[in-house]
Amino acid sequence: MISRNPCIAHLKSGYLFPEIAKRRRECALQHPDAKIISLGVGNTTEPVLPYITQGLVEGAQKLGTAAGYSGYADEGFLELREKISSVFYKGRFHADEIFISDGAKCDIGRLQVLFGSGVRIAVQDPSYPVYVDGSVLTGAAGAWTETGYTGITYLPCTAENNYFPDLSLLPRSTLLYFCSPNNPTGAVADRHQLESLVESALKTGSLIIFDAAYAEYIRDPLLPKTIFEIPDADLCAIEVNSFSKTAGFTGVRLGWTVVPKKLHYESGESINSDWARISGTIFNGASNIAQTGGVAALDPEGLAEIRQLCDFYLENAALIRNSLQQLGIPCIGADNSPYIWAFFPEKDSWDVFTDILNRCYVVTTPGSGFGPSGQSYIRFSAFGHRGDIKEACERLIHTL
Ligand code: PLP
Repeated sequence: MISRNPCIAHLKSGYLFPEIAKRRRECALQHPDAKIISLGVGNTTEPVLPYITQGLVEGAQKLGTAAGYSGYADEGFLELREKISSVFYKGRFHADEIFISDGAKCDIGRLQVLFGSGVRIAVQDPSYPVYVDGSVLTGAAGAWTETGYTGITYLPCTAENNYFPDLSLLPRSTLLYFCSPNNPTGAVADRHQLESLVESALKTGSLIIFDAAYAEYIRDPLLPKTIFEIPDADLCAIEVNSFSKTAGFTGVRLGWTVVPKKLHYESGESINSDWARISGTIFNGASNIAQTGGVAALDPEGLAEIRQLCDFYLENAALIRNSLQQLGIPCIGADNSPYIWAFFPEKDSWDVFTDILNRCYVVTTPGSGFGPSGQSYIRFSAFGHRGDIKEACERLIHTL
């Protein structure tokens, strides 16, 4: 028989969401009349707004006409790539530095092919699980121990360091995943912090994979929305981004990755050329329907809808944070992010999770599932219908 890729057996965090689902099922069995509300996952709940929906409809209709039909569009529609450059990057990137993807997560997984199994990895701790799990699957993460994977440097981001890592811990020649606004903590790095990040990457010969999937949630005009607002970031950073949490495209699937032409490996070859080659080898582009929707999303009317949708989830986030604050539970997030990161000192994340589930019938996510430094934290997600969010908040206030 064929043998299994041994890396698959090394996946550890894959148990987080199945375990949450299992505990939710158990709660439902014990309390069959309870209406369980989820503030647990980062999945969007609200409909795509009308102008962007019309873009999707047009994308589908075009495919049914001889004049509008299109087939493979490998790196993505030129119009979409140019629009992304002008809307998000002040036109500073050429279309061939922007690659359209079927979502940020998919590219986060695929990007590691550029660096192989020998690359050193660093992550913010806690972090979005795909950075670690993707590294496990390529073999770069090394062996699992009680404190994490041997091939991964965990950079703690806790209340003590204001959720920004101590960059002196960054080893040389490392692939550093960095997410701002952060999932799960909701923390947003300021300009000075991102300048120090770029400086450290340049000093150590490291490459940043900057995940900006929640950038459109930033409302504070002083906070950078992209790593490329920082001088010289195009010498040391790739940025992944997505229409999922902004236009409601979690099920439509559309994102992009910026790979600047100035990026080179230690050996001098171009990372951009390799990424174009890899994209053409193992990926055949995002759906043309999704891309037409993406073009509409970047029209002024579409951008207004993106703002409206993000505002809705930000209002949810504020409701959750205010409820937690009324209870005296320390938390961050919600101002520029759809996540709230709540601290329960000296308690185990899973115990707090179970307590909230069984007493309030509200599903959250245990912080320890995002990395060792997430212990004693709980992540609340603002993705939900307003009525559910309000009811969950009432239950938290009156039960905890
Ligand atoms: N990046 C972060 C930080 C996320 O939290 C998520 C989804 O939860 C993604 C990327 C996935 O984005 P996409 O739907 O574009 O794959």
